[in-house]
Amino acid sequence: MGATMATRRDLVNALAAVVGKRYVIYRPEDLRVYEYDGTIDKSTPHAVVLPGTAEEVAGCIRVARNFNIPVTPRGAGTGLSGGAVPAERGIVIGTPRMRRILEVDPVNRIAVVEPGVVNIQVSETAAEHGLFYAPDPSSQRACTIGGNVAENAGGPHCLSLGVTTNHVLGVEVVTPDGEVTWLGGRVPDPHGYDLRGLFIGSEGTLGIATKAVVRLMPLPATVTTMLAIFETVEDASRTVSSIIGAGIVPAALEMMDQTTMTAVEAGLACGYPPDAGAVLIVELDGLADVVGTEAKLAREACQANGAREIREANDPKERELLWRGRKGAIGALGQLAPNYYILDGVVPRSQLVETMTKVSAISQKYGLSVANVFHAGDGNLHPCILFDEREPGATARVLEAGAEVMRVCVDAGGALTGEHGVGFEKQQFMSWLYSDTDLENMERVRPAFGNEGRFNPCKMLPTGTGCGEMAHQEQAVRAAGPEAYV
Ligand SMILES: Cc1cc2nc3c(=O)[nH]c(=O)nc-3n(C[C@H](O)[C@H](O)[C@H](O)COP(=O)(O)OP(=O)(O)OC[C@H]3O[C@@H](n4cnc5c(N)ncnc54)[C@H](O)[C@@H]3O)c2cc1C
Repeated sequence: MGATMATRRDLVNALAAVVGKRYVIYRPEDLRVYEYDGTIDKSTPHAVVLPGTAEEVAGCIRVARNFNIPVTPRGAGTGLSGGAVPAERGIVIGTPRMRRILEVDPVNRIAVVEPGVVNIQVSETAAEHGLFYAPDPSSQRACTIGGNVAENAGGPHCLSLGVTTNHVLGVEVVTPDGEVTWLGGRVPDPHGYDLRGLFIGSEGTLGIATKAVVRLMPLPATVTTMLAIFETVEDASRTVSSIIGAGIVPAALEMMDQTTMTAVEAGLACGYPPDAGAVLIVELDGLADVVGTEAKLAREACQANGAREIREANDPKERELLWRGRKGAIGALGQLAPNYYILDGVVPRSQLVETMTKVSAISQKYGLSVANVFHAGDGNLHPCILFDEREPGATARVLEAGAEVMRVCVDAGGALTGEHGVGFEKQQFMSWLYSDTDLENMERVRPAFGNEGRFNPCKMLPTGTGCGEMAHQEQAVRAAGPEAYV
């Protein structure tokens, strides 16, 4: 089909022929919902389509190819790097209709799920067999397994158990040329190249996951959850290295600073001490004897670094309250400012104290308030810059401060992302870590999966085609009239 002649109506009709008109979204007011994710960038798609099967996904991809327009996969839109934002417009393929848990196999400890299944539902369903799905992003009440696979999501309990790639055995994928195929399967370590591993974390650039085989773990026999309270972020940061240095890898080791606790207490009232400089949530699980010994060592490490108090959750209800505050912390920041910009840098644990000091200096330099809530055990920082996007120049200042923080992480020997992905947001920083040759080699993977540049463009690699032309394209769309494509 000649793309220059095609109208939005042609596109909608072609998509409706695949999924039914009900599942094609095209009215401007409805499309607004799909122009953003959890971060700052925005771009409105031409249409959104909600297929119900892998075959329908393939059909929608073929329509996009015929119209020569981009495809952007989307789960729940909770992503924090602009991954689901349709940077060059085109169609968004959403997965909310594909939300069945198809199988729970307690003997082999696996579940087969569709991509639109919300993360926490896997553990809730597996619990009746004494099992759970380990990766637990703080957004787990909203984010989908498809989005988790694409971002190789982590979570508080990934410190000892590993992130999504360690818990997904196989993925059914519709490739960017519309082929339905399996990468990996129901057993670990299949022969041949690990294409499953390549797909997980590919940020929606190598296809759309339409099923996943996930690994289930037995629920731990004993869990101890402690809240260690410190006067300063530095003391809490030092404690992180001390705990791991004592030979313990806790199930979770999370930090929140005073700004975050103020927001949590205002919104969720979980009993955190709002006058403290920082707290660590230290969770240990396993056999009772081991947990007892490790808890003693962890307590000693906290005390040695100046903890003013260590509280222990006495029952599941108290434990749940401690976690509710941590997992709801980012949402609670809305109590403090209308907008926040969450960063996702990684530093070696030994660099935590120094890095946190530098983050604080950047916040002062730009006159911006920063809340810190993060996976301290992994050295995975999430400075959240609080701001009001209605203030002229505020967004630009926030992005500049954010870039400085990312540079600090890279200079400390760290990485650009621990779990949120590079997405649209950080692609231009990739050259801080990779040479042109490295990036070109990564780019070469895309055509092998059938992505010739129109499948989630402008994400992850700065070598994508046409990303700098976004504004130009918007202008051309306007000039050509609302119905026409460019
Ligand atoms: C309050 C809050 C807390 C968070 N905490 C964490 C955390 O602790 N750990 C963590 O890792 N992340 C966290 N996140 C980030 C986010 O929730 C994760 O990145 C999550 O994996 C995104 O899932 P989603 O369904 O919302 O995906 P989306 O945002 O819709 O998409 C994310 C990426 O996945 C791609 N994608 C979506 N579905 C598919 C599919 N079926 N096949 C192929 N590609 C697909 C998209 O194109 C995009 O590139 C948090 C976000 C928020 C808002």
